[in-house]
Amino acid sequence: MNIHEYQGKDILKSYGVRIQEGIVVDTPAQAVEAARELTAKTGTGWHVIKAQIHAGGRGKGGGVKLAKNLDEVREKSKQILGMQLITHQTGPEGKKVNKVLIAEDVYGPGVSEPKEYYLSILLDRGRACNVIMASTEGGMDIEEVAEHTPEKIIKEWIDPRVGLQGFQARKVAFALGLSGDAFKEMVKFINALYKAYVESDASMFEINPVLKTSDNRILAVDAKVNLDDNAMFRHADFVPLRDVTEEDPLEVEASANDLNYVKLDGNVGCMVNGAGLAMATMDIIKLSGGEPANFLDVGGGANAKTVEAGFRIILKDPNVKAILINIFGGIVRCDRVATGVVEAYKAIGDIPVPIIVRLQGTNAVEGAKIIDESGLKVFSAISLKDAATRVTEVLA
Ligand code: GDP
Ligand code: MN
Repeated sequence: MNIHEYQGKDILKSYGVRIQEGIVVDTPAQAVEAARELTAKTGTGWHVIKAQIHAGGRGKGGGVKLAKNLDEVREKSKQILGMQLITHQTGPEGKKVNKVLIAEDVYGPGVSEPKEYYLSILLDRGRACNVIMASTEGGMDIEEVAEHTPEKIIKEWIDPRVGLQGFQARKVAFALGLSGDAFKEMVKFINALYKAYVESDASMFEINPVLKTSDNRILAVDAKVNLDDNAMFRHADFVPLRDVTEEDPLEVEASANDLNYVKLDGNVGCMVNGAGLAMATMDIIKLSGGEPANFLDVGGGANAKTVEAGFRIILKDPNVKAILINIFGGIVRCDRVATGVVEAYKAIGDIPVPIIVRLQGTNAVEGAKIIDESGLKVFSAISLKDAATRVTEVLA
């Protein structure tokens, strides 16, 4: 589960990671109020207005703006709130900004220049370790750094059974070229960040930039946090952090029905029981000249209710020209699934696209008979090859 920057920063702060302080708001009037409140706390009259969407690259897309007085705070939050923010991670349609974070300007004038670093912690599945990645080239172009000068990215692997060792945090801080107070602060920062990462069951923390202020404080200016959905049962307090407006509406509806659904861009919807079979079915669709419109795993107990929910979700995708249902009757019997398909079809009413139902396994023949005799615009198939041919035919 992805969360917003302001939520990620709240988690960091609760673990003692120093952050750029801010207040999240959803109107320009609240933005001005927030800026006043921050000035009272931090002393600075300069603020930064930051669009809260689940995508990076906001700065380049015009979603992060500096304000030097309250008028600018009002003006710039007005510009950002409600805008359709396009970044390299949002896709061409962009994402609507519903909230902005008003934060203290931490770059402000000082004795020396502030410096931006990159720091992230994520899971390296290949090595079964957590890995800290760090770079002196922080800021907005880390993808370029990774591509053109990968040697500028330091990696330190941490065995989760042993945990982060003191020398490892020092090694990273040293490799970033720090010394004196800034070095000590960075070591503290890394230790606190690692603890936050482990205890919140995160799969990624990306802090870009981490800022060394002109007075040698180290703080998180940005926070991209991904929490492990499978650990949510341990974190009741994280559940409300989910922002469904950032998710694909069809995927939200599917998860409410316990369906495993991922929307894709193709023209053939598919409904399958089992993730492996779903992958194979998507291959079949491609081989038949179509493109899968989705991945949909209805799980072990395909019945009229799950099939109907699956149908409704697939049909909301305007690109869908045909639907392929591919069910293996191992635990569930094919005749039951066939009855479920027919019932779901009748419950929905007129389905404007052809449906191919391939049932194999227990009572496959009985299942095909139910489909064929239903009088509906549904084609049965038993072999995968038949199903593929049918798909080609209906797309032609
Ligand atoms: P991203 O573009 O989505 O990664 O958003 P960030 O939170 O990283 O902000 C983008 C850029 O805005 C940062 O790399 C900083 O250079 C700049 N920025 C963020 N906060 C401040 C601030 O308080 N003062 C100034 N001057 N710049 C800031
Ligand atoms: Mn950033």
